[in-house]
This record gives sequence, structure tokens and C-alpha cells, in this order.
Amino acid sequence: MKAIINANIFDYENFYEHYYIIFDKNILEIGPMDNFKGADQIIDAKDNLVLPGFVVGHTHIYSTFARGLNLPFNPFNFKDILEQLWWKLDSRLGKEENYYSALIAGIEFIKNGVTTVIDHHASGLQIKGSLNTLKTALCDEIGLRGIFCFETSDRFNVDECIEENLEFLETHSDMHAGLFGLHASLSLSDKTLEKISNIFKGPIHIHTAESIDDVEDSLSKYGVRVITRLEKFGLLRENSILAHCVHTSEDELELISKHNCYVALNVSSNMNNAVGLPNYKLMKKHNVKVIAGNDGLGFNFARELLNLYFSMKLKGNSPLSFTPDDLRDVIKNTYEIASRHLKIKLGKIEPGYVADLIVVPYLPPTPLNNENILGHVIYGLYDNFKPSHVIVNGKTLMENYEIKLPVDEIYNEARKVAENLWKTLEG
Ligand SMILES: [Zn+2]
Repeated sequence: MKAIINANIFDYENFYEHYYIIFDKNILEIGPMDNFKGADQIIDAKDNLVLPGFVVGHTHIYSTFARGLNLPFNPFNFKDILEQLWWKLDSRLGKEENYYSALIAGIEFIKNGVTTVIDHHASGLQIKGSLNTLKTALCDEIGLRGIFCFETSDRFNVDECIEENLEFLETHSDMHAGLFGLHASLSLSDKTLEKISNIFKGPIHIHTAESIDDVEDSLSKYGVRVITRLEKFGLLRENSILAHCVHTSEDELELISKHNCYVALNVSSNMNNAVGLPNYKLMKKHNVKVIAGNDGLGFNFARELLNLYFSMKLKGNSPLSFTPDDLRDVIKNTYEIASRHLKIKLGKIEPGYVADLIVVPYLPPTPLNNENILGHVIYGLYDNFKPSHVIVNGKTLMENYEIKLPVDEIYNEARKVAENLWKTLEG
């Protein structure tokens, strides 16, 4: 049995000061330090906040080797960004690149307090088996939880993409799960959507209306907007993840809400690609469940949540258009969707929830209490977010900033893999 002691606990709902947490794979008991009776292994969390680890609601492990890549880049629109960078990169990814991307992503996520990722994957040189490669690296070897899918699109062999999603969906544990992946409306023909709709009846994970290009493509080819098109094929399934929804009408938001889909916002990526910003206020008006992702742009999820917080105020033209409670709702929804797919309880620090915990140093310079803790987290903790301990499924993956893996060796090998990959892209 393990314990965290002298902890100030915050799980976005309850705040407890000077508490202990006893856990194995799951949280077994919490209570005030006066009642603590000892444990086999102890982490002292004095002057730290203990929180549930982050869940990233939409990411791309395959973007790991894009850092520093120098390709001719002169985009006029989002489709150009895909064609000049991302589609070139993902078409050249094979098993080794997938494996090392996932190892590096895993290590970087740990450093940033992320304990579960919902990944959206594409790799042209390894379709079949690619999700298992990611799962082996990220879940079995690094120790994070992952929910994976392959971006089916007409760019690839559609049948292979479908098989890969279906085969991976057959495997499930409390550490990993699958979704059915589709790239985006603009890369999927009616024939492909119909095929998927007939073969598979569960939740999907897809990019929707990320840029205006996706909407214009759908309107010009099919006469309907992106979300309406998906509904027409019966693909707005409960617990699906629709990433972005930057250019979504109120009618479409109503459809998303009606079908109980989750919308993953990725505002840093939206700003980086200059595609516009989603409208949280409208999503809230239509009771759409909103979660947060990072679209594969870096690994610092506290920064992503801050960018969401600031950008949605700007988008709503009012400092009140996105409140600390809105951010709390988004974080809690992200725990909820991951819990549903993994079939475990994530995101709270109380008995019965999994022991995915992070310990983050925080010395408050002003009074800290139950009423103002969220303000401290947003303006203080997230501003300088450096977890010292990361625990997943009861296992300590990082202790006093030290990751229990041969990190240098993995980075050395990753650089070699990236160099070879870049040669095939640049040459
Ligand atoms: Zn994405």
C-alpha cells in the first residue's frame, strides 16, 4: 500500500488541506493527517497541491517528429497546411517512427502532468498494427493510459484503415481503449462514410469544421455543412469526439447536443493555423459537452488550458464569457469522456477512482481556501506548472522530477529516427 501524506488535495470539486491518500491501482482511502496510520511507501507532499492527472481530449502523437522540420511552407489556407506539412509527414511514418513518437510523447506528457491521452493517428507506411505500436510504447512501456484510433481517409487504403480501427477496438484494458477514427469531411467521400456507417455502429473520433475549407468543401460537393453531412450518414454517435468545430452553425451545435457527442477544443492549434476560434458561448447555449485537447501542438497541457481560458474571453468579447467554472466544466467533461471509453473512474480524488495523481509544488503567496482555489490554480499553479511526481494506475512514473526510464537513450535513438525520416521528406 502506498500513501501521499501532508497533501493539499484539489480535484476540481473538493479541496482538502493536510490530508493523506492511500492507494494501490485505485484510491482506497483519504482523510485528515491526524487519522493517518502509516503505509509501505510514502510520498511527502508538503507545500504541494495533489490533483488528478490531466486527460488530453484530442492529440496527435504523430506530430512529435515535426519539431524543427524544415519543408517548403507557403500556405494560403488550411488545406495547404495539410498538404505542405502534415500529409507529407504522416505519409512517411512507419512502425519505428510511430514507436519512438509515442515514447517521446509519453515522456513529455509525464513531465507535464498528463496521465491519459486521446490520440488521433495516421501513418502511411504502417496502417495495420499502428495502434498497437502506439499502445505498446505509450501504455505498456511508458505507463500512460491511451485511447487510440486511426484517421480513416480517402488518402489511404480505406479498407485497411477500417480494419485497423476495428481490430484495435477488439482489444481493451483499463489502460487502453479504441475509438473509430476518421480524418475529416474534406478527405472522406460519401462512399467511405457510408461504408463506415454500415460496418461500425459505435462512437467515432473525427476533425470537424476545423477550418472554413472543410465547410466549403462539404457545401460545394454535398450541399450540406460538415455536421449535417455526418448526421446524414448516422455517424453522430453518442460519446463521439468531434475535434474543433470552429466553423459550426447553431443548427449543427443543436445536432451535436442531441446526439450526445463531445466537442474537443484545441485553441492553441487553431491560433497557430490561423483558422479562427471556436465559440464556447454558443456551444454552452446548446448544452454541447466541451472537452479540451491540444491537437498535437506540444505537451504542456496547463498552457493549453490557459490559452483556452484567455482566448474564449476574447472570442466572447467579455471577461465573463469564459469563467473559471467553465474551465472546470471542460476539465471535468474531459475526465468523463475518457472514463466512459476506458470504463474506469478518472478525475476525482476519492475512494473508487483510479490512482492517477500528480503532485505539483505550490506555495500560495495569498490566502488559499475552498472559495478561491480555482483562481489559484488558473492564475498561479497553471502559470508555473511543474509536477514533481506523476502516478498512473498506482505506479510512480516520475519521482522528484526523475522519470524511471532510460530517457537519454530514448532521445538519442529518437533523434536518429527523426533524421532518417526527414531525409526521406526533404530528399
Ligand atoms: Zn487534430
